[in-house]
Amino acid sequence: MQDGRSPRSPVVARGPTSVGKSRSSSLRAGGSAYARLVEACAERTWACPADASPDPSADLPAVTDFSVRGWCPSAWRPMMAGDGLILRVKPRLSRLSGAEIILLCELAGRFGNGVVDLTNRANLQIRGVPESGWQPLLEGLLAAGLVDEDPLIEQRRNVLVAPDWASADDTWRIASELTARLSEFPELQGKFGFVVDAGGSPVLGASPGDLRIERAVDDTLLLRLDGREFGVAVAVSQAVDAMLDLARWFVASGGTGRAARHEAPLPEWAAGDRRPGPTRAPLDPGMHPLGRVWGIPFGSIDAAALIDLVRRSGASALRLTPWRMIVLEDAEAVIAPAFIDNADDPLLRVDACPGAPACPQAGVETRGLARRLAPHLPGRLHVSGCSKRCARGAPADVVLTGRDGRFDLAFDACAGDPAVRSALDPSQLLAHFGAE
Ligand code: SF4
Repeated sequence: MQDGRSPRSPVVARGPTSVGKSRSSSLRAGGSAYARLVEACAERTWACPADASPDPSADLPAVTDFSVRGWCPSAWRPMMAGDGLILRVKPRLSRLSGAEIILLCELAGRFGNGVVDLTNRANLQIRGVPESGWQPLLEGLLAAGLVDEDPLIEQRRNVLVAPDWASADDTWRIASELTARLSEFPELQGKFGFVVDAGGSPVLGASPGDLRIERAVDDTLLLRLDGREFGVAVAVSQAVDAMLDLARWFVASGGTGRAARHEAPLPEWAAGDRRPGPTRAPLDPGMHPLGRVWGIPFGSIDAAALIDLVRRSGASALRLTPWRMIVLEDAEAVIAPAFIDNADDPLLRVDACPGAPACPQAGVETRGLARRLAPHLPGRLHVSGCSKRCARGAPADVVLTGRDGRFDLAFDACAGDPAVRSALDPSQLLAHFGAE
């Protein structure tokens, strides 16, 4: 149980499409908040990849995301994908104890299809949940303290932290206070996120987040609105108050979406003149001061394999990162074929969405082909089941985009960009790249 909170009986839902008054009336504390969420959900359309609208700044799974109409799936508000419901779990401080990760994986196997995605905001998504499985899964997550009992707080808890924080350091202090004070923030768009990157130098510079705490080169702590070049100096003890003030200004000045698209002039107090320091390289698989780092192929975790890894390595806890890597605290080196333990593994250079048959929009299989091609390509490879770019919004050196059961080939491009060769089948591609 996290934070010493005691579980309560979960609110019973009749099903994902019946989120409504019976549930809100059963809530005692937070009932009005829940009613607002229900109202907000009323226009929801159950999303499948066909509805996906890639947003590079959204909480994308490292491999695929179905970011639709300004909201992301949560445990309280799951989203329907091609393989069933998706429930997002947002570990506080991006960390789960060994017992918590085993429980979460057991729930994923029992109520989902046993696959857990690691997202690019260091969250986890339980996949393949039938509608009948949502309620018992939510109950299990609530009982474990992995989901907030207030759906609105759960929705707001989009706090990405630098994964190498230490207890009582600046990242820990700010992220902990921010998490505890989310109820004080104004209503923000569902994808609105916070970044707390207060270590010795920034490591989350490439990770999405609207309100950002970062380090300048001279070690000054900065608060910066995403999209602005400069941040304003803040003291650790005042950081959350300043974030709160900036969030209130954002709303008052007409901000309704993502901060990077909000062009109103900053208030004088927030218009600083310091840039965040350069972003240091993220982790590599292998040894780490906290334990060991493992890579996650395609960001897709086999829940049973992760349970096995946690148990055999003796890990005491798991930290999630936005880079398709996990850090297992106090872990011993063990052989774990489902994970990447070598920084030179070619799969670290590959992005591939689930493709067929998991995604109904895909007419091509993606990950098997990506695995076969990866060792034969020196640069970044992106294999996309269609032009929607769920796995990667940025360009890659080699891009294969599925179309009508075959692939279009492009170089230094994004999925769906004009091809240099079209309608290739996998055998032609394997031959082309010497991977037969
Ligand atoms: S085929 Fe891939 S890129 Fe296309 S919608 Fe499905 S998951 Fe997204």
